[in-house]
Amino acid sequence: MNPIATAPSHSISAGMLPRVAVLATGGTIAGSAPDAAQTAGYQAGVVGVDALLAAVPALASVASIHAEQVASIDSKDLDLALWHALAARIDALAARDDIDGIVVTHGTDTLEETAYLLHLVVKTAKPVVLTAAMRPASALSADGPLNLLGAVTVASAHAAHGQGVLVVFNNRIHCARDIAKTSTYAVDAFQSHEVGALGWVQDGRVEFQRTIVRPHTAATPFSAGSAWPVVEIVSSYAGVSRIAIDALVAAGVRGIVVAGTGNGSLHAAVQVALAEAVQHGVAVVRASRVGSGHVMHNGAAPDDALGFVSAGSLNPYKARVLLMLALAAGMTERAVLQLAFDTY
Ligand code: ASP
Repeated sequence: MNPIATAPSHSISAGMLPRVAVLATGGTIAGSAPDAAQTAGYQAGVVGVDALLAAVPALASVASIHAEQVASIDSKDLDLALWHALAARIDALAARDDIDGIVVTHGTDTLEETAYLLHLVVKTAKPVVLTAAMRPASALSADGPLNLLGAVTVASAHAAHGQGVLVVFNNRIHCARDIAKTSTYAVDAFQSHEVGALGWVQDGRVEFQRTIVRPHTAATPFSAGSAWPVVEIVSSYAGVSRIAIDALVAAGVRGIVVAGTGNGSLHAAVQVALAEAVQHGVAVVRASRVGSGHVMHNGAAPDDALGFVSAGSLNPYKARVLLMLALAAGMTERAVLQLAFDTY
């Protein structure tokens, strides 16, 4: 496709508005506080999808909306059952002729994990767009309504087809693989470090500046249909012990992602414990706690000698998602897992 594609919001069905499904899951975008000046002390996930939509009258000229309340949670409490349900619902809606695009409203805390998981498991070229808010719906200058309008606009745009799962936040369009939450409070809380946003949406216009190169959605072997194994995350830091790693191995986890220091470097105690975990059949992926950059294979640790996989540019939370999906898809050999991390 043309890498610089501009499309108005009404581009899918000539003469009629695009039909967009909005799946609400909760989060701060559906949060409410007793006082409009309160932006930190509030309850997430209490405002229903109909009220969220009613707060944005401009949606009526962008798309015809089909709304569903899939969950009403604070995304810090998200579990694998909701991921299974959400992915299945998206695939079912995307298969319908009367749905042109899908928007998911979500909490910001785990949005980057859900977005990347969906990017790998849903099987559609139709736009799937996640959005969220940093301020509750009840707040002064709440950011949710404009983010929702932007997300529906992108989900309605022909230019968003085949781009994988997208995140629209603060007027920017991000790839699900790249984005991460980088501020605990700021409205501009999401960044795609190293690579930047894919494009922008403003006042009904959608523009992509680039497309992504890694396979996603229908071009992956991953699915939400299979049971996902237990994969946990540990960290390396000054004075760390091997207690957590040994406990995870004893508990029978299938995989461990380690958030290493710097370029995925590991404290000697952690490195020895993880090498032993590999001997017990646990898949070990070395990521970084830094937040940007990548982890070089055989760089700060001898991956090939110790049986580790390097996460490349995936942060530990996204590396955990990919490791879980890869193990579920039968990718247990280290070389196969490394190829998955190099590919997706
Ligand atoms: N704790 C909230 C959530 O993730 C935060 C937010 O949405 O901004 O659901």
